[in-house]
Amino acid sequence: MVFNHRRHRGHGGCTEGFILCAPSVSSVPAVVKKPRSSRHLRSFNGFGPGRAPSGRILFYTPAFDFDGFVREETEKMLSWYRERVREHGASAATGLLARVVWSRGATALANRLLAGRVVCPCCGWAGRKFYDFLEIGCTARDAECPRCNSHPRHRAFAVWLRRVYELEKRTGVALVFAPERALEELWAEAKNLVVVKTDIEPSRGVDLLADIQRLPFADRSFDLIWCQHVLTQISDDRAAIREMTRVLRRAPAGELIVSVAQGAGARTREFGRADKNHLGFWRIYGADFTERLEEAGLEVRRVGYGLSAEECARYGIDSDEGFFICTRAASV
Ligand SMILES: [Zn+2]
Repeated sequence: MVFNHRRHRGHGGCTEGFILCAPSVSSVPAVVKKPRSSRHLRSFNGFGPGRAPSGRILFYTPAFDFDGFVREETEKMLSWYRERVREHGASAATGLLARVVWSRGATALANRLLAGRVVCPCCGWAGRKFYDFLEIGCTARDAECPRCNSHPRHRAFAVWLRRVYELEKRTGVALVFAPERALEELWAEAKNLVVVKTDIEPSRGVDLLADIQRLPFADRSFDLIWCQHVLTQISDDRAAIREMTRVLRRAPAGELIVSVAQGAGARTREFGRADKNHLGFWRIYGADFTERLEEAGLEVRRVGYGLSAEECARYGIDSDEGFFICTRAASV
C-alpha cells in the first residue's frame, strides 16, 4: 500500500521515537507507530521544521532566526530540486527551477515597486500579486501568498470559516487532516474546540501521525472532521471515507467538511498510481465524487464560499469551486 498524501508537505526528518501526546481525547492512542522513512520532497516553499522531542508532540519554534531561515530555505529548495530530478530528469527539473526563480524574482520586484492590489486574509500580507504556482504539469497564476503560502482555496476557506461557519464559536472535538499552515491562526482562535491535527508524515503543527485509511480512533469520536485536498493523494480513498464516517459523530453534531481536486468530467479519472505528472495524485475526481461519499453512508451538501466578485479579486480567488459538508445518514 502506498501512502502519498501531503506530498508537498512532508518533511524528511523526525522519523524516530514518535510517542506523541495528543490533546485530551480519550480515544487518541498515546503511542503512534513509527512512520516510514520519508522519501517525499520538502516543499520549496513549505513549512518550517518539525521537531519531535521524545514523548512530546511535534511543535514549531516561532522565534525568527534569519541565518537559519536562509539555510532552511536553501535546503528546502535543494531538496525540492533533487526530488524533481528524480521524478522528471535533470533537464526538466532544471527548466522548472529556472522558471520558478525567474517568476518569483519578477513577482518580488513587482511587489516592491508597484501599488498593492491583493490581500491575504490568512496572514494579512498585501502586495501587487501572489506568486505563481509552477510545477511540471500544473501552472496556477497569482496563486501563492509569499508570507504564509496560502493558495486560493485557503484564502476562501479563511473568509468562510470566520464569517459563515464562525469557527471561533465551535465546541467539541475536531480532527484536522494535513493541517494547512495558512489556517493555523483560525484553529488557534477556536478556544472551545479541541483540535487534533494529524498527518501520515511529520510536519509543522501535527499532533499525531495516523493513516487516514486506518484511523486509530474509536467510533463517533469527532464533532468536526476537516479534510481538504487529501483524498486525491490516497491510494484507497473509499477506505479513507469509510474511516472518516466511522469516527464522525451523528448528526447534527458531527460534520465532515471535505474538498478535492475535481475536473470537469462526469466520472473520476483513476491513474492506478501516484502520478508524477499530476502532482502525485492518484486520481482527479469527476462529478461522481459525491457518490463515493454517499456510498459510505454520508448525506452530502455542496456549499460555496459565498464571496463577492470584489472579494475574489482582492483575495486572489479565481473561482468559487465550493466544497462539501457531510453528515452521517440516519441509517448509519
Ligand atoms: Zn498569507
